[in-house]
This record gives sequence, structure tokens and C-alpha cells, in this order.
Amino acid sequence: MRLVALILSLLAMGSLDALAHRTDRPRDLSGIAITSITHGEMAIIDRYVGDILALASQVRNAEQDFLVLSRYAQLQYGDCLWGLVPTSISDEESPFNECSHAYLAAAKEVLLKMKQMPGVEVAATEIASRVSYEAALEGAAFVGCIYSGEGFNTADRVRPHWHDVPFHPPTLLSLAGAFGFLPLLAFVGSRVLRHKDDETAPASG
Ligand SMILES: [Zn+2]
Repeated sequence: MRLVALILSLLAMGSLDALAHRTDRPRDLSGIAITSITHGEMAIIDRYVGDILALASQVRNAEQDFLVLSRYAQLQYGDCLWGLVPTSISDEESPFNECSHAYLAAAKEVLLKMKQMPGVEVAATEIASRVSYEAALEGAAFVGCIYSGEGFNTADRVRPHWHDVPFHPPTLLSLAGAFGFLPLLAFVGSRVLRHKDDETAPASG
């Protein structure tokens, strides 16, 4: 009975927040700005994200801005469960689509910066050429979604929309399959409650 109540309260909280979530996320703009990426482009960057981040780790004597940017890309990739949740990149309705835009936009920015960096410029230019070629071939710039115009900032990590997980069957089923249903429910519940605390806590710093 307690479990049913928990499920119902999660669903109720999720439905209330689902709409507000997409447009009203509080933003910290004090870091480095990251240009938005279209839905089509991010599917292409996704093919190279591992190569891009591995190459970034080989950069020596990088400027602070580059370190901040590549660190953000790494952390944001992890925040979004490394793109492992099915449809997180292809489906704009996925609770993982916005955070996917964030790490892939950051990875693209890292790639473009590396084109001018000694030691990695040849490899970076080669990846960037392949990305450009595939993007042109697939008309990626014209494939948009609700997050395609959204810029990001290294001071503002983008979390998955945990509230929306119960309403997105591919995500719900894959996470339930990976973690088991009850642990997943407890995890999503803790995220929802933590999010509530964040919203009600007074701003600090
Ligand atoms: Zn998208």
C-alpha cells in the first residue's frame, strides 16, 4: 500500500513539473558560454564523443578556459549516463535529451578549440572534417527539436528530467531493466525530493 502511494505521489509530482521543467530551469551564467547544437548535429557528434574527449585529455599546457570546458563535457557526459539510455539522443521527448544536448554541445566546442591547439590540431581537424561531411550528408543542421536553440554554460550542469521518467516508457523500461524496478523507484524518488529541496532552499553564494 505504501508502495502504491509512493508511485502515485511520484506521478503527481512528475505531471506538475513536466511542463515547467523545460522552460524555467534556473541558470547560472557565470561560467563559459557554450553554443547550442541542433538535434541532428548532436547525433553526429555522438559518434565521435569518445574520440573527442580522449583527444582532449592529451592536450598539454592548455589554457584554463579549455580545461573548464573539457571538464564540463566529461562531467555532463556522466550526468547524462554516458548516452547509454536508449533514445536519449534520438527522441526529443526523452528525459535525457536536454542533458544530451548539453554534453554534445560541449564536446563540439572542445573539438573546435582543439583544431587550433598544438599537438592535437591534426587529429582534431580530421574528426571535425568527418563531422562536417556527415552533417552535410544528413542535413543535420535542419533537424531541430525544442532544445536545438538552447545554449549552455559551464557553470550550469544539466541533469536528466527524472520527473519525466515515469512518462517515457523506453527510458522507464531500460532503467528498470538495468537497475531493477524498486531501486529505480527509490532513486527517482530521491531525485524528485532533492529537486524540491533545491527549489525551496534559499540561494547561496
Ligand atoms: Zn534534441
